[in-house]
Amino acid sequence: MSEICLLCKERKVYQIKSHLTPAGITENTYGERNKEVIYTIDPKNKNVDKYYGREYPQEETTEIKDEPNARRGIFCKVCETDFGTYESAVQNKLNEFINSIGHTAGIKRTGFYIKYSNLDFHPNVLITFFLSIVWRQCIEQILDEMDNPISEEELEKLRVLVLLKISTPINEIIKQDVIQSPKMSIFTTYDTKIQPTWANPHPKETNPQIFFIGPIVLLYWVNQNVTDNFNNLTLIDKGLLDDNISLKTSRIGIIHPNQWTKISNKMAQNLVRDFMR
Ligand SMILES: [Zn+2]
Repeated sequence: MSEICLLCKERKVYQIKSHLTPAGITENTYGERNKEVIYTIDPKNKNVDKYYGREYPQEETTEIKDEPNARRGIFCKVCETDFGTYESAVQNKLNEFINSIGHTAGIKRTGFYIKYSNLDFHPNVLITFFLSIVWRQCIEQILDEMDNPISEEELEKLRVLVLLKISTPINEIIKQDVIQSPKMSIFTTYDTKIQPTWANPHPKETNPQIFFIGPIVLLYWVNQNVTDNFNNLTLIDKGLLDDNISLKTSRIGIIHPNQWTKISNKMAQNLVRDFMR
C-alpha cells in the first residue's frame, strides 16, 4: 500500500489505526467500543463476516481479525489529528443530542410536516465533520474493492475540500462564509440505540446519494436533480430533501422509527439483491 497519506497526498503515513467512519458516532448504535458486534456484508465477494470487539463476551471464536471500518497507515499524523479535532468538536455533543430526542430535545415541523431540530453547532463545523465522513466512506469502499457511489472526479474535488476545511482551525472556520456546496442534509430517529443501522453508502447510485452513518442518514447532493424514482428506491420521504433542513441551517430531520426501519430494510434488500446477483 502507498506510503503517502490518502488525504493530503503529500506527507508520509503514520502507522496508527484510523477509523473510516469515526468510532465515536457508531458506538451510539454498535454498542460500547470494544464490546461491539459488527456485521459486514460484501455483496461482490458474497461474504458476510462478523467482528467482535476485544472485550465482547464471545465464545464462537478466538480468531483475531481486523476491525471493520478501520485501517492502519492510510493517513499522516497531521491529517489524522485534524480529523480528530472535528470529531471531538461534534461527536459526543451530537450523540447526546440524538439520545435526547423524544425526551428533552425541542422539535419543530417544516411546511412538509417533517420534524426537525436545531443543532447547536456552527454549520461549517457540522459540514466539515460530515464531509470528512462521506469522503472516508468512499475511500473505504475503494479500499475494499466495492462500488464507490461518487465519481472519481467528484471524489477528488471532495478530497481537496475536506483537506482545506479540516486543516482550518475551528475558531477560524466559524468566521468564514457558510459552505454552500456540496449540499447535504441529515436525519435521525428516536431511540437510535435500538434501531438497525449501517455504516456505509447506499448501494444504489441516486441523487442525493445516501450515506448511513450509525444513528444518522446523510443525503449528499451530487447535482441539483433528484433521481426520478428516489422515493421508490430508498423509501426516503421527499420532504426530507427540503432545503429547510440542510446542514447549512444546522438542522437535523427526525423521522418515526417505523419509517427508519423501512428505510434500513430497503437498504438491506438492495444489498441482498446485489449479493444474489
Ligand atoms: Zn495527510
